[in-house]
Formats: sequence, C-alpha cells, structure tokens
Amino acid sequence: MRIISLAILLVLHLVPASLAEEGHEEEETLIEDYFVCRTCGNDVSVANLLFDKYSPLALSATNHTLTEGRSVLIQEVQNSRGFRYTIFLVKQASCQKITAQRWIAKSSWFPGYAWKFCMCPKCRMVVGFMFEPIETATIERNFPSDAGFYALIHNSIITEGYVNSLLMKEKVLREN
Ligand SMILES: [Zn+2]
Repeated sequence: MRIISLAILLVLHLVPASLAEEGHEEEETLIEDYFVCRTCGNDVSVANLLFDKYSPLALSATNHTLTEGRSVLIQEVQNSRGFRYTIFLVKQASCQKITAQRWIAKSSWFPGYAWKFCMCPKCRMVVGFMFEPIETATIERNFPSDAGFYALIHNSIITEGYVNSLLMKEKVLREN
C-alpha cells in the first residue's frame, strides 16, 4: 500500500517539480513525514505536499508544528449543519475512488471551489475533503486536478513521526 500510494503522490507532484528545478533525471525526494489514517494506519499523504491557503469562512486560523520543522496552517471550519472540523491542506492525498459522486458547489469553505468528502481507501472513514475549481468540477472527475487540493481533518490523521515516537516510548518503558 505504501509503495502504491507513494508512487501516485511522487509521480503527480514531487518528481516533476524536482526534475524541472534540478534539470536531471534521477532525483531522489526525501519524504519529510507521512500522514496516516488514525483509524487504520493507511498512508494518506506526505508532509512534502503541505501548503497553506486561507479560508475566508474559517472560524480560526493558527500555525502549528504538525510535523518536525514545519509550521502548518490549521483552520477551524463549520459546515451547514453546524459540525466543526479542524483542517490542514495538502496538494495530493489518497482517497477512495467513488464514481459518479457529485461535487458540491454550495457551502464551500473555499469560494470558487466545489468539494466532496475524502474517504480512506482502506477503512472508508472520512479523513478529509477534496476541492476542485467549480468550472472543472464535473461528474466525470473523481479526484481534484492540479488546480484543486485536499483538506485533511486534523483529528483523523496522525503523522508517522508521532507513531514512531509512541513506539519508542513503549520500547523504553518495556526495557526499563
Ligand atoms: Zn483508514
């Protein structure tokens, strides 16, 4: 699973960018950290793909150190039913493919973008939302284009760095 999802993420975003910049073919990209589904541990995205975009509808927007050495914009948003989510943004993520699922243009936290849910491909839990410019948010489009992005729900995602720190702690406790 890690290899498949990584291949998708790298091919779509990291490698083309580094090739263009560096101008040579073999470019290794160091993965800064993995974002994994809190429910099942499946890879959802990587820290390299983080980016910040303010929602004019956010109830709050603060910077957090989500992963080592990187400050991330975390925003609290509310849907039309009053549910609140704390989200951060990535350019790419692994979501369950659901064909013929409509993009919703109203009640979008990012004006000009339509949205739909992002469900973990392994356990089907909602881990975030996908956003696509309204003009290109067609029924045939399952996932956002390069002009779109993903909002991951902070409570549904943990970093692998955090998982490893827990495992280390457990190891230390067991050995003492
Ligand atoms: Zn999952």
